[in-house]
Amino acid sequence: MKRPHPVSRTVPHIVVVGAGFGGLMVARHLREVDADVTLIDKYNYHTFQPLLYQVATSALTPEEVAHSARGIFHRQKNLRFYMGKVEGVDFAAKELELASGETITYDYLILAAGASTNDFGVPGVKEHAFYLKTIPQALHMRAHIITQFERVDADPKLLEKGALNFVLVGGGPTGVEMSGALVELFTHVLKKDYPNIEVSMAKVILVEMTDRLLGPFHASSRQNALDVLRRRGVDVHLNEAVVKVTPTEVHLKSGEIIPCQTLIWAAGVRGNPLVEALDLELTRGFRIKVNEHLSVPGHPEVFVIGDLAGSVDENGQLLPQVAPVANQGGRYVAELLRRKLHGGPKMTPFRYKDPGIMATIGRAAAVAELPSGLRFRGFTAWLAWLFLHLIYLIGFRNRMSVMLNWMYNYFTYDRSARLIVDVIPDVPAYSQATFVKQEEKLKEPVLRD
Ligand SMILES: Cc1cc2nc3c(=O)[nH]c(=O)nc-3n(C[C@H](O)[C@H](O)[C@H](O)COP(=O)(O)OP(=O)(O)OC[C@H]3O[C@@H](n4cnc5c(N)ncnc54)[C@H](O)[C@@H]3O)c2cc1C
Repeated sequence: MKRPHPVSRTVPHIVVVGAGFGGLMVARHLREVDADVTLIDKYNYHTFQPLLYQVATSALTPEEVAHSARGIFHRQKNLRFYMGKVEGVDFAAKELELASGETITYDYLILAAGASTNDFGVPGVKEHAFYLKTIPQALHMRAHIITQFERVDADPKLLEKGALNFVLVGGGPTGVEMSGALVELFTHVLKKDYPNIEVSMAKVILVEMTDRLLGPFHASSRQNALDVLRRRGVDVHLNEAVVKVTPTEVHLKSGEIIPCQTLIWAAGVRGNPLVEALDLELTRGFRIKVNEHLSVPGHPEVFVIGDLAGSVDENGQLLPQVAPVANQGGRYVAELLRRKLHGGPKMTPFRYKDPGIMATIGRAAAVAELPSGLRFRGFTAWLAWLFLHLIYLIGFRNRMSVMLNWMYNYFTYDRSARLIVDVIPDVPAYSQATFVKQEEKLKEPVLRD
C-alpha cells in the first residue's frame, strides 16, 4: 500500500527518518525550503535521552523528558508527521518500506534513526540486562528497581540472594550518572519508604573495563568522578569486565560472581538495527559510511546524520555519538538542501565544532570541560549541567516542570515519580502488526525473578 504524497506533487518530497536530536533539527531548518517534508518516527514523540536516567531513578516523569512530535511542528506548514517504523529502503525506486506494509516515496532522504545498545555478544546480556535508550526501557527499569524493594520488604531473605545488588556496566557518562542517581534514590528516598529494610545493604556496583571512568575527560575530572562516586557509596570496579549474565548472577572476568537480579547495561552503542536491512557500507560500530557532505557514497540524494552516521573529523576519526554532533549534522544537511533547491554556493565539507563535554555525577556534583581547556567541577559544573539541559529540553512546559521538580527534589531530597507502572520495552504501538506482537509479549513474564 502506497502512502499518498503529503501535500503536493509540485515540489520535492524530503523524508526524514527519526524525530531525535538530528531529525528534529533538520526538519525545523527545512521550514523555509520549498519542499514537502515528512518526518517519520516509530514513536509519536521526541525523547530527550540525556535525562532518561532521571526517569529510571524516579526523579522525572516520562512526559517531562519527551514531547509530542506533532506538537513541535504545529506551525510548520510544509511538514507532516507520520508515526511508523521504517524497515527498509529501496534506493533504486526511492521508496521507504514500513513495518505496516506501507511505502513512502522520496526525492531526498535523511536517515536519523539513532543508535541501539551494543551487548558485544556477552552471553545473557540480551536476555537479562536492562537498557536505557527509550522511555519504555526507562519505565521498565524504574518499575523493576522499586519492585525489588517491595519483594525484599515482603521477604527479607531475598537480600542474601542479591535482590538489592544493582550492577551497572560501563563507566561512561550514562553509567556514572545512573550509579550516582541510584545511591541517592536509595539513601534519601527508599530508606524512608522501606523502614523495615536495611537500605545500606543495597549495593550499587559499577563495572568498567578500562582503568578509568569518563574516558574522554581530563585525568583530573576522571579522578573527581571516581572519588565522588566512591565517597557516596558506589562500589567501582575498574579493569574489570562482565563475561556472563544469568537471571540471578553476574560473572566477572576476574572470576568473581555477584549475586544480582538487576544488570544495567550502559557499555556501548551501535548503529540502529535498520542498517542491517539497507545493504550500505558500514564503519566501525555499525554506523553508515558517509562522505564529507554527510551523504551516502553513490546516493547523493540520501543523507545520514547523528548517531547512525559514520561521520568523521578532519583526521578521519569517527565523531562521538552525542547530541551536538546530531544537531550540527541536521543544520548542515538542511542548509545543503536549501542551497540545492534554491541555489547558492556549494557547501564546504561538514566540520563538527566541539562545544565541550560534561557529565553529572549526582547531587551538586558534575564535571565540565570546554574546548579551550577550561575545566569545572562540583557545584558550578552541576549548575551549568542543569542549565544547559533545561535550555535544550524541548517545550516550555517541560522546561518549567523539570525546573520545578529539580528544585523540589533538591530541597526536599524527595523523588515523587516512584510508581511501579510497567510497560513492555521496545514494543511501540505503531501498527496493527505490533499490537499482535504486543499481545504475544504480554503473555511473557515482564519482571525478572
Ligand atoms: C541514556 C543516555 C544519555 C545520554 N546523555 C547524553 C548527554 O548527556 N550529552 C550528549 O550530548 N549526548 C547524550 N546521549 C547521546 C545522545 O542522546 C545521542 O547522541 C543523540 O540522541 C543522537 O541523536 P540522533 O538524532 O542521531 O538519534 P536519536 O536521538 O536516538 O533519535 C533517533 C530517533 O529515531 C527513531 N527511530 C529509530 N529507529 C526507527 C525506525 N526504524 N523507524 C522510525 N523511527 C525510528 C527513534 O524512535 C528516535 O526518535 C545520551 C544517550 C543516552 C541513551
